Amino acid sequence: MSEENLKSMADLVAHCKQRGFIFQSSEIYGGLGSCWDMGPLGVELKNNLKATWWKAMTFRDDIDGIDASILMAPMVWKASGHVDNFTDPMVDCKSCKSRFRSDNIDLTAPCPVCKAKDSYTEPRNFNLMFKTQMGPVEDTSALVYLRPETAQGIFVNFPNVQQSMRRKLPFGIAQIGKAFRNEITPGNFIFRTREFEQMEMQYFIKPGTQAEAMEMWKDLRWKWHLNNGLRAEKLQWKKHESLAHYADAAFDIEYEFAHGWGEMEGIHSRTDFDLKQHEEYSKKNLHYTDQMDGNKKYIPFVLETSVGCDRCMLALMSDAYRTEFPGDPEKERTVMKFKPSLAPIKVAVLPLMKKGDMEETATKLLRELQKDYKCEYDTAGSIGKRYRRHDEIGTPACITVDFDTATDNAVTIRDRDTMVQERISLDKVQAYIKEKFSL
Ligand code: ATP
Repeated sequence: MSEENLKSMADLVAHCKQRGFIFQSSEIYGGLGSCWDMGPLGVELKNNLKATWWKAMTFRDDIDGIDASILMAPMVWKASGHVDNFTDPMVDCKSCKSRFRSDNIDLTAPCPVCKAKDSYTEPRNFNLMFKTQMGPVEDTSALVYLRPETAQGIFVNFPNVQQSMRRKLPFGIAQIGKAFRNEITPGNFIFRTREFEQMEMQYFIKPGTQAEAMEMWKDLRWKWHLNNGLRAEKLQWKKHESLAHYADAAFDIEYEFAHGWGEMEGIHSRTDFDLKQHEEYSKKNLHYTDQMDGNKKYIPFVLETSVGCDRCMLALMSDAYRTEFPGDPEKERTVMKFKPSLAPIKVAVLPLMKKGDMEETATKLLRELQKDYKCEYDTAGSIGKRYRRHDEIGTPACITVDFDTATDNAVTIRDRDTMVQERISLDKVQAYIKEKFSL
C-alpha cells in the first residue's frame, strides 16, 4: 500500500482545526499570537498523553506526584537564577520593527521580513518571564511571576514530600502543569508557544550516582516515546556540548517535526544547584540525612526529565498523520494512526440506517462501551463517509449495526489501520475491544 507522511505543518494546522483538535486562541478576535486552544479531540488526546506519563512516573515505588501552584514567592525565581539569567538575546529590525532572537538569525544578512539591510539594533537581553501583580496594590512589592517551568515547585517541596512520604534516596517527584515564557520568536504551531504544559520529574539521588541515574532515565524515557507509537527513525539523541550553569550533563530527545529536528524532552543532570540555592535564599535546611550511610548529611543531586506536553502531542500527531493511496481519488484517505490507547475517540458506534431496531441495538451497545471508553455515536451520512471521518480523527474501531444484526446478534467491527471488517457476536464485543486497548 502506498503511504505518505505529513508534508507540512500547514496541513496539520488545517486538519487540527477542521477536525476539532486545536483552534487558535480568541480566533473571532483575530487570534492571540502563539496561543492555542485544545478542541474536543485535542483535549482527549492530551489527557490520554498526560495519563500515560503520570502512570509511567507515579505507578512506581519511588516517585510521588504533586501539583504546585503556578504563582510562587518571587524569591524562588531569584534563587533559581531566572530573574538574572532566564534571558534570550534579542534584536529588533529598525525598519519593520520585527523582533528576532539574535542567536537564531544571521545578523549580517538582510532582515528576513522586510529585506532591509543593516537594520538591526544591538542585541539586548530580554527576560522571558511574565510578570503580574498580586493583591490590590500595584507596587513592586506585589510583583509575582507566572512560572517559566514547573521544576521549581518540585524543588521547594523537596522537604515536604520527603518527610510526609517518609522517602529515602533515590526518589522522585513528578508534576504536570502549565508554564509560561514570553518567547521572542514563538511559532511552528504548538512547538513553541508562550503558554504551554510541562511534564517534569526530579529524581533526587546521592551525589556521585548521577551517571547511573542518567543512564536509567535516558533508557526509560526513550522507550516511553517508542511505546507511545513514535517511529524510532524520527527520534534522535542530542548531547549538550555547552552546559547550563546548573548542569553537569544534559541530553535531549529530538523529534523530526515537519519544520525539522527539534527538542521534545530534556534529560538533565542538575547537580545540587537548585536545592543549594534554595537553602541559601530561604535560610532553611534542605540537607538530607542518609541513614544508610552513617547519618551523613548532604544536599541531594537531581536528575531531571522534562518533556513538553504540547510538543510531545505535536510529535504524536505529526507521526500519526498519513495519507494512504495518495493521488488515487477512489481510495485516498487521511488517517491518524494513533496508538489505540492514546486515540481521542476509542470506538465509533454506527447504526447503518436511522431505523428503530438498529438504533436501539446500537444505543444499547454504546451505553455499555461508554462505561469504559470515550465513544462516539454517528448516524450522519453514508457508512463510507463515516468511516473516513473516523480515520481522520484516528478512531481505532468502528462498530456497525446492520440489517443482519437482528437475526445473527452480531456486528461488524472495522479496524482503522487495515480496514479489515470482522463479524463479531454482540456478547464478545466488550472482550474484543478490551484486547485492542490493552497495550
Ligand atoms: P528550547 O531550547 O526549545 O527553547 P528549552 O531547552 O528552553 O527549549 P526546557 O527549559 O528544557 O526547554 O523545557 C523542557 C521542555 O519544555 C522542552 O523540551 C519542550 O518540550 C518544552 N518547552 C520549552 N519551551 C517551550 C515552549 N515555548 N513551548 C512549548 N514547549 C516548550
